[in-house]
Amino acid sequence: MTQPQTQIKEPSFRESVDIMFNRAVKLLDLPAGLEEKIRVCNSTYTVRFGVRLRGEIKTFTGYRSVHSEHMEPVKGGIRYATGVNQDEVEALAALMTYKCSLVEAPFGGSKGGLCIDPREYEEHELELITRRFAYELVKRDLINPAQNVPAPDMGTSGREMAWIADQYQRMNTTDINGKACVTGKPLNAGGIAGRVEATGRGVQYALREFFRYPEDVAMTSLSGGLAGKRVVVQGLGNVGYHAAKFLQEEDNCVITGIIERDGAIVNEAGLDVEAVFAWIGENGGVKGFPGAEYFENGASVLENDCDILVPAALEGVINLSNAANIKAPLIIEAANGPVTSGADDILREKGAVIIPDMYANAGGVTVSYFEWVKNLSHIRFGRMQRRQEEARNSLVIEQLEELSNAMGDTWSLGDTFKEKYLQGAGELELVRSGLDDTMRSAYQSMRKVWHERSDVPDLRMAAYYVAIDKVAESYRAKGL
Ligand code: GLU
Repeated sequence: MTQPQTQIKEPSFRESVDIMFNRAVKLLDLPAGLEEKIRVCNSTYTVRFGVRLRGEIKTFTGYRSVHSEHMEPVKGGIRYATGVNQDEVEALAALMTYKCSLVEAPFGGSKGGLCIDPREYEEHELELITRRFAYELVKRDLINPAQNVPAPDMGTSGREMAWIADQYQRMNTTDINGKACVTGKPLNAGGIAGRVEATGRGVQYALREFFRYPEDVAMTSLSGGLAGKRVVVQGLGNVGYHAAKFLQEEDNCVITGIIERDGAIVNEAGLDVEAVFAWIGENGGVKGFPGAEYFENGASVLENDCDILVPAALEGVINLSNAANIKAPLIIEAANGPVTSGADDILREKGAVIIPDMYANAGGVTVSYFEWVKNLSHIRFGRMQRRQEEARNSLVIEQLEELSNAMGDTWSLGDTFKEKYLQGAGELELVRSGLDDTMRSAYQSMRKVWHERSDVPDLRMAAYYVAIDKVAESYRAKGL
């Protein structure tokens, strides 16, 4: 049974991140003082601003935290949630530094947040609030294509990013790179194909890569490939929905449980992710979804028997009060910080393998990087090469067909092969290829440390090790 959390002392989110950092940094031989310089958050700006709404002035509190400027711009989402606070924003900014470093996105780490429940406001009200918040940040260069580039996070989406981009451009009318001041924009506002689903896609690619190594899979009690694995997903927001959908549709995983705000639903034979998503859209929650068992205490389903647990919602959901009861042998952190440092220790003792957040959910910032580059180069990826590639491929096909004729049609190329081979890569294909490559290389760099160093017991420590080492390297190069 889950115990009430209030009885147990748990470090704050930021402390939790620092504890995990400290575990890994000890293994690196850093010059005196550099360890602290990397760990601490450089600055956090708090702003309180008023917006006239419904006949009165409402005051909002927002933050933009910059964790590390070893590379600029700094990067990280803006979150809209009632629980946003300085500790959380600083923890998330630190995770951004390590995440960007691990996946080699050339950014420092940052994060922003606004204390607001976006569901309480009409769209035009949210636009006023977002533009005003953006104004405050742009004024201080906390939104700027060369210095600080936000993106969507919990409670925000392309819609808010388009408002932010427009606000920046109104305030900087001659900045030719203005669109690059924020990523995660809709396609028609300078976004990139594949950004919306990028984080969920990254979770899928991370799992595929993990399952390519039987030795790694053997560290869990699992065997074989991804197909048929029973998965419980917590949170069917943008990340959880896409991860669950792709795992179900493309990797034949069985989604046995879905946990949402209002409770959880379970069906051991598998839940149809699209149908559940549509149900939530219509009914506001999972309750009543036909053909599944409903549990009012959603968190209890985290403890269900399954092969892969995907926490894709808030931080701290697996903590000292429930870690001992978690049965999943493999946990992939689609959310930022879903496992507290105390829970991490308990799960490691139990032999569970955790694919850590800074790697697992890095797909979002990776595709944000591509979007930023696209905005700076002012041209869609693939625009110059696609038809040229197709022309060259069709030359090969023609030659092969001539050869086939000359040989009396004793063999021929299949139509599906021809169709696939002929197609040049457009933006979406290139984005997917870049994301897949990034997720594979980052996993390989982590597993190398995990397997080669006897003092690195898990993937999280390996991820921190690789990430901190790269940050330290750029400080060294700067001469600091
Ligand atoms: N908010 C996302 C994250 O936590 C994306 C950040 C970005 O694209 O800059 O990674």
